[in-house]
Amino acid sequence: MSQTERELIFSKYDGKCAYCGCELTKGWHADHIEPIVRDSKWNRDKGRFEQTGTCRKPENETLENYNPSCASCNIQKNSYTLEQFRTNIKQFVNSLNQYNTQYKFAKRYGLVKETEVDVAFYFEQFKNK
Ligand SMILES: [Zn+2]
Repeated sequence: MSQTERELIFSKYDGKCAYCGCELTKGWHADHIEPIVRDSKWNRDKGRFEQTGTCRKPENETLENYNPSCASCNIQKNSYTLEQFRTNIKQFVNSLNQYNTQYKFAKRYGLVKETEVDVAFYFEQFKNK
């Protein structure tokens, strides 16, 4: 990807993460909105998966399919579609209620209040400005 392309992606939402809306900092990621799903294979000698350099959806490799993203949103989104990512985030509350004692305590003592808001990405609200 060229520097000009990266600058275009960066400025798409005024230097903010397309998903959470935080200010992008050094090391921001260019996320594929529709995933390309990189192929990887197990390297037995190194004990880890390694990318092969090919992907399952090369047709998604277009400038329009990139969103600027903070590292944590991009890593969490992984190879999810937007709707899968939204569902994934929504399920965090269920996981916290099931497995996180500190969260359950904070909720019991009124420090945390759950809401039924829909997960809205920054770029979806940006369009309406
Ligand atoms: Zn983000």
